[in-house]
Parts: sequence; C-alpha cells; structure tokens
Amino acid sequence: MTEEVPVRYEKHGGVGLVTMDRPEYGNAQHSKMTYALDKAFYAACADDEVKVIVLAGEGKHFSAGHDLGTPGRDIDQSFDRVATLWWDHVGHDGGASRYARESEVYLGMCRRWRDIPKPTIAMVQGACIAGGLMLAWACDLIVASDDAFFGDPVVAMGIPGVEYFAHPWQMGARHAKEFLFTGERISAARAKELGMVNRVVARDSLRDETLALAERIARMPAFGLALTKRAVNQCEDQMGLRDGMDSVFGLHHLAHAHNAEVGLDSLGGHGVKSMKEAVTPGAGAGK
Ligand code: ZN
Repeated sequence: MTEEVPVRYEKHGGVGLVTMDRPEYGNAQHSKMTYALDKAFYAACADDEVKVIVLAGEGKHFSAGHDLGTPGRDIDQSFDRVATLWWDHVGHDGGASRYARESEVYLGMCRRWRDIPKPTIAMVQGACIAGGLMLAWACDLIVASDDAFFGDPVVAMGIPGVEYFAHPWQMGARHAKEFLFTGERISAARAKELGMVNRVVARDSLRDETLALAERIARMPAFGLALTKRAVNQCEDQMGLRDGMDSVFGLHHLAHAHNAEVGLDSLGGHGVKSMKEAVTPGAGAGK
C-alpha cells in the first residue's frame, strides 16, 4: 500500500495550486493533512515565481472539516511542530494535551496561513464545514461554486464555534449568532450576500474562473500585493480580530474541558453522523 499523500502542490505560471487530496473523506483534515498544507504553503511562499496561491479540495467537497473519524485520524500523533511554541501534546493528557495540540494544529497554523505575504484564494465547492471554514477564512478571497455550502455546527457539541473564531468579522455579529445558534448550512449565494464570499460561479467553471482571477492578480507587483494584504490584515486586527480570537479560544477550551468533565469526551460524545443529525434532523444516516 502506498503512503497517503494528502496534499498536492503544482504551479500554473505565477499561480501555486495547493490541493487537498482526500476526496474519499470529503477532504477531512487530519494532522497529516494540516502539516502537508503547511509545507505546500511554505514552498509556494518561498518560490518567487509564485505570485498568488489557490487552495482547492479534490472531488465533490472542499472540506468536510476536521477529521472526526476516518481511518487516518491521527490526533494522538505529533509531527514537526512549528506553528506555535508549545510542548508536544503527545504524552500529556486533558487540557495540557488538547490546548497544546489545538494551539499548534488549528489556531496557530490558520493564523500563519492568513499572514502568508502573497494573496491566497480559496476555491470552494460542495461542503465547507467547521474546520473547512477555517481554511477558507484564512484565505484572502473566496470563490465558491453555486453548489457550495457553509456551516459551523459545533454548538451542537456545546462548543462556541471552531477554533479560528472569525465569524463576527466574516459576516457581522448578528448573522454570526444566527449561523452559530442554528448550526444551519448556508448556500454560496447567501454567503455572498453576507459578504463572506467574493464570487459565486457555476460548478463547471469554478477552476477556470478562480485561476483567471489568480492570474489577473498575479500581474501586480509582488511587494505591492504583500503590503496591501498586510494593510488590510492589520486593519482587521485593529478591528479586534486577533484579540477576539484569542479570548474566544479560551472559551472554546472551557467547552472542551466541560464536556470531558461531565463524563463525555471533549466533543460532547459526537461523531460525524450525530453532528449531521443534530443540525439537520433526519440527515444523520445520509450523505
Ligand atoms: Zn477544539
């Protein structure tokens, strides 16, 4: 059996295309994938020929979120930790393990990717759920196909949203509350209406339209793009994104710890099917 390579990286002129490649699991993110993404982003970052980076998901779905139960689930393993300065979560238990792991693999990595000094575009089709949102939100632009849908159902686990808590900045406070309180999926058209998505295109033309946008941006000078990205990100941080995210990360871990303390696991006893059932009654057994 060949070893699974969960991320592909290729170049199209000035565009670096990073593709998650676990289509059989809706590109569910295990740690092996997040580290492979990190490596691909670093390669694209270091390559002066690459002016713009596109993040894609192979197959029907962009990302079903964090890996809650595929055969490759690897939360008990560590890799080459680089995103944050914490001890290895392996060999620790409870919060000492969970906080270290999520600081590194979830919040730390997404923050680094958000700060890549080149424009990034998420190319989203099908599901973009929970941990999938984190990837799309860490990108500068989002181009979605008309079949894309977005949701963060983790309130059903008793957890106030995914680790990269950008919701209020992505769609405004009132819509963020509805999005989280209900856990309901929103369509690509609705996401665009809320200002979360730049463009919605036909599924068949998603790749061409996204690459065309990337190539158009790639005609701009690299340093100008880097400074412009930094300018907007700095303003976003001054609007509270970074501090808000830090404070909510503590609430997120209170919720994990509470779940563990009252006798369930840190996810409130939920898996993939029970999560679907929680937010879409009757859907638990379906695709
Ligand atoms: Zn978590």
